[in-house]
Amino acid sequence: MITDSCPSCTTRGIAPAETRTRGDRAVDGYECPNCRHAWATVRDLTAYSELHARRAQRRTRRSAA
Ligand SMILES: [Zn+2]
Repeated sequence: MITDSCPSCTTRGIAPAETRTRGDRAVDGYECPNCRHAWATVRDLTAYSELHARRAQRRTRRSAA
């Protein structure tokens, strides 16, 4: 979980209310508990792509065997 700072009132350490994954990107939706400002940040998940690829390979091998 990655916390963010409110772009409106600069409250720090706000946890995402929801996280959605779109392909190789994750969209974290935030709502500031202080001023109720809502925003979203997009994170690139390509740093994890190697891990996903390894898991996919393992699954493919198992189903093939
Ligand atoms: Zn705020």
